[in-house]
Amino acid sequence: MSDRADLHLHTIHSDGTLSPEELVKRARAGGLSTISVTDHDSVGAIEQARAVGEQLGVEVITGVELSVSVGEQDVHVLAYFFDHTNSTVQDHLEFYRFERVKRAERIVGKLNDLKVPLTIDAVLEKAGNGSVGRPHIANALVDEGFISSYNEAFLKYIGQGKPAFERKMRVSPRAAIDMISEAGGLTFLAHPGVNISEEVLMGLIKDGIDGIEVVHPSHSPERIAFYRGIVSEYFLLASGGSDYHGGGRNDNGSLGKYFISNQEVEMMRRRLDLV
Ligand code: AMP
Ligand code: FE
Ligand code: FE
Ligand code: ZN
Repeated sequence: MSDRADLHLHTIHSDGTLSPEELVKRARAGGLSTISVTDHDSVGAIEQARAVGEQLGVEVITGVELSVSVGEQDVHVLAYFFDHTNSTVQDHLEFYRFERVKRAERIVGKLNDLKVPLTIDAVLEKAGNGSVGRPHIANALVDEGFISSYNEAFLKYIGQGKPAFERKMRVSPRAAIDMISEAGGLTFLAHPGVNISEEVLMGLIKDGIDGIEVVHPSHSPERIAFYRGIVSEYFLLASGGSDYHGGGRNDNGSLGKYFISNQEVEMMRRRLDLV
């Protein structure tokens, strides 16, 4: 069995396109021995993924991708090893998903004011039972023929600062970190190379984040080395993965290209006294 762990994956429970079962099969085919399904604000995929993983010999670590606010910035936090049946966590996720629907309605309202007659039903249909997000809105806009590409949706309408942009519910980093810690888990700053300043990174370390996602498709080898340096300097943990959404738009090739070692996963367990 390989030594490869990909701890950042999405399914239809958020903005991914694969079922948990199909995702685990592809992970196995890509040579991964450990994965974590980290849907945005949903733990709905975990039990099915774990059941399939047990059959195929892929270890499935509990995970989720949360959103927190630092000033006006939306920062993503990956959480692992927490008890996903914890009622505080479940209530938070449920409330957050409900707020996401209300935000999608506000975005659709703004689009309608801009003479783009998208309906909320078209968006909710894209999301199915998963957490609704801007990717679903972008896909609905393309499908209905209002724009010609996924990226155009963000550039023209729903990207930050654009006319139909709406914020998500505000959650402080510390609230998210403490909630996951109380549920027995660890938190990691997700893909810092995308848009995180060193100031924001240092703030999260002060807030008690446990680690940094060092490996991510958006990170150059220099970035990875830089984040590994910070991890060792501040006695943090290192995570990483592909942020795979099923092979479409922003995915960089197939599963199995972005990973950390199982030894790094072991270090997470040790920090939690699970070994
Ligand atoms: P949401 O959580 O609803 O705000 O959606 C955030 C997701 O939208 C991110 O995880 C990205 O996948 C995608 N996204 C955000 N900004 C852009 C952008 N400028 N271009 C393309 N995709 C984006
Ligand atoms: Fe996503
Ligand atoms: Fe993210
Ligand atoms: Zn992600």
